[in-house]
Amino acid sequence: MQGMFSFFMPTKVFFGTGCVKDRRANWIMGKKALIVTGRHSAKASGALDDVIASLPVEYVVFDEVENNPSLETVSQGGKIAREEGCDFVVAIGGGSPLDAAKAIAVLAVNDVLPLSLYERGWEKPALPIAAIPTTAGTGSEVTQYAVLTVDRDQTKRSISGDDLFPKFALLDPAYTESLSPAVTIDTAVDALSHLIEGFLSVRANQVSSGLAVQGMRIWGRCIPALRSRVFDSTVRSELLIASALGGMTIAQTGTTLVHALGYPLTYFHDVPHGRANGILFAAYLRYINQVAPQKIGEILKNLGLTSLNEFQQLMDEFFGEHIAELDIDEISIAAWVQKAASAKNVANSIGNPGPRILEGILRDSLLR
Ligand code: NAP
Ligand code: FE
Repeated sequence: MQGMFSFFMPTKVFFGTGCVKDRRANWIMGKKALIVTGRHSAKASGALDDVIASLPVEYVVFDEVENNPSLETVSQGGKIAREEGCDFVVAIGGGSPLDAAKAIAVLAVNDVLPLSLYERGWEKPALPIAAIPTTAGTGSEVTQYAVLTVDRDQTKRSISGDDLFPKFALLDPAYTESLSPAVTIDTAVDALSHLIEGFLSVRANQVSSGLAVQGMRIWGRCIPALRSRVFDSTVRSELLIASALGGMTIAQTGTTLVHALGYPLTYFHDVPHGRANGILFAAYLRYINQVAPQKIGEILKNLGLTSLNEFQQLMDEFFGEHIAELDIDEISIAAWVQKAASAKNVANSIGNPGPRILEGILRDSLLR
């Protein structure tokens, strides 16, 4: 029997080629926009041109967001928003610009240091955000999370708030066509990890799992394309929908230990976020198979795979060559276990894994 649960996803989602310029989307929310993006992708994808062509109001472009954005960057963006008097935010890019835009939307109306967002939260609700993803991975366009790099803590940490859900998510699969095969695969595996971790979270409910199952089915259909590294427009659409379903899932359930253990790989070794998850994924599922084997059966069926070995082979095919290059040692593993053990998303994992389990997953994945 299912206990009490809630479902909240206040983002208006538009999907389809040309949706940014379609008047029906009607996403203009103020008199002056701050456009937040990375250095290249908004231009390469064509999204920035479409946004500017659709904006009947004034705008300022802040295109300084780096991968795994820093507190300094969001602080700078917030300052520009305040100085320019922007009253809404348009975020274009992968998860990094989308997440940075959320923090900037907060700092635009709360003149505080970014670190205090973690310690004290914030008073005034963030400026409204329209989010336009150019990767198919994070689902940040439909979540209340913003993940930032916190150097003081030598890791990545998220802030969350209902006001961080974008008001609009504009999903145009054509914007993902300029992605390299490597980034397409890294980000697709991030989407998969949201779908699976959400499905396996102790906070999963009938609604979130319905979204996760549909996302896994769609993702499974994309496996041949991911293997051959050739992506037609159908696959681009499917990956973008699977990614949004993954975001809607984790918005309810949170992520679990894969995300917690993946952050040090990104922080200390610059491993792209989705790839970090992918490297740890099969060992995590082998652990879950001991505590909830029927769930693993459902996941494999939804993906169209027959065994966890097949899943491991798929991840190895994508990421195997990168693991050897990493050259992780025992000391790092011990330190990461300590850090991850206190992360709140570990507590979302079924089976209530302790430090020994976390260490086992890291060793299994990294010391092969
Ligand atoms: P990303 O860091 O946003 O972007 C990776 C790279 O892809 C960048 O070099 C970017 O270029 C490029 N790129 C993006 N779109 C492109 C396009 N259409 N064509 C060509 N290149 C493109 O990668 P991401 O995986 O999407 O986001 C990762 C971040 O999201 C991490 O910080 C992660 O922690 C976070 N995340 C957030 C959530 C959430 O719920 N909020 C969930 C999972 C992960 P530019 O530098 O030009 O942008
Ligand atoms: Fe993620």
